Amino acid sequence: MSKRDYYEVLGVSKGAGKDEVKKAYRKLAMKYHPDRNPGDTEAEAKFKEASEAAEVLLDDKKRSQYDQFGHAGMNGQGFGGGFQGGDFGDLGDIFGDLFGDIFGGGAAGGRRRGGGGPRGRRGDDLQLNLNVSFEEAAFGVEKEVTIHRNVVKEGSTPQTCNTCGGHGEIRRQQGFFTIAQPCPYCKGTGEIVERVKKKVKLEVKVPAGIDHGQRLKLSQEGDIGSKGAPKGDLYVQIFIEDHPFFERDEFDIYCNVPITFSQAALGAEVEVPTLNGKVEMKIPAGIQSGKKMRLKGKGIQRLGGYGTGDQIINVTVETPNQLSEEQRELFERLAELEEARSSSPMSRGFFEKVREFFQ
Ligand SMILES: [Zn+2]
Repeated sequence: MSKRDYYEVLGVSKGAGKDEVKKAYRKLAMKYHPDRNPGDTEAEAKFKEASEAAEVLLDDKKRSQYDQFGHAGMNGQGFGGGFQGGDFGDLGDIFGDLFGDIFGGGAAGGRRRGGGGPRGRRGDDLQLNLNVSFEEAAFGVEKEVTIHRNVVKEGSTPQTCNTCGGHGEIRRQQGFFTIAQPCPYCKGTGEIVERVKKKVKLEVKVPAGIDHGQRLKLSQEGDIGSKGAPKGDLYVQIFIEDHPFFERDEFDIYCNVPITFSQAALGAEVEVPTLNGKVEMKIPAGIQSGKKMRLKGKGIQRLGGYGTGDQIINVTVETPNQLSEEQRELFERLAELEEARSSSPMSRGFFEKVREFFQ
């Protein structure tokens, strides 16, 4: 199932300002809000879709990420998945803004899911570090991970909370007023549920192009919440292992390739490693050390699937340090020839400048 473009969802142009986005969202939200369409799953889906689009397009950082990477980029950053559980997260403020007058302030529909009972506490988020190889990050991979999360103890039945007598709130007198607060012991649920840590195995889909330090969000794979409240999320932080000869800068790959004096002077064909195996690269005669050569499209697939980076070859001319007798003789002969006719443009220019400088 492919996700629709956020701008398309809201029917606004790429350059639309925040007011325009809000206006478009308000129109859709009023039409599809679950309170106005009870039991209509299609309307609910449309409402969620519009809410997600608005959340991203009203947040400068998320919007620029989305513009750059598309939907896959959003998932890679831990955005976008948050709506599956009916948790409207950061949109709370926008809802307050938009619906304060229409829906009586309690418009964050998702937060009220679970019936009219006491408001529960969402489960805790969990965090996990995941090591992947350079290649796995480049091409994507599925990895099995083991986590320990809070679950309801099997066979246990919820007990009425003694502290609040099952009401979920504690009332206390203050002057003329009675103030009700959620019960801290049962977190406002009125029930005590026995929890245990359980070892759980999960498949984590690591998308191609993910970079070091990025986080994946697995919605609702964290600890259980209190009754009626959603589970927490699981965040998987990616660590990319070092590679013997590749380094990465965003979607480009860097690789040092040493060549000999004679290869640099005469030109050569050398084999260089790429992510997709070895390729032949032509070194032009007269190349200087430190010269960078670009292999177009041999880098890493961009997160989100828009194109591929390049591989950049950093050519290093290596000075030989263990000469045979014959090599030494040849270099000495070469040195005599160099005195007669300089074929080294850089040093010729340099020593001429030095002479002029001290005249
Ligand atoms: Zn209680």
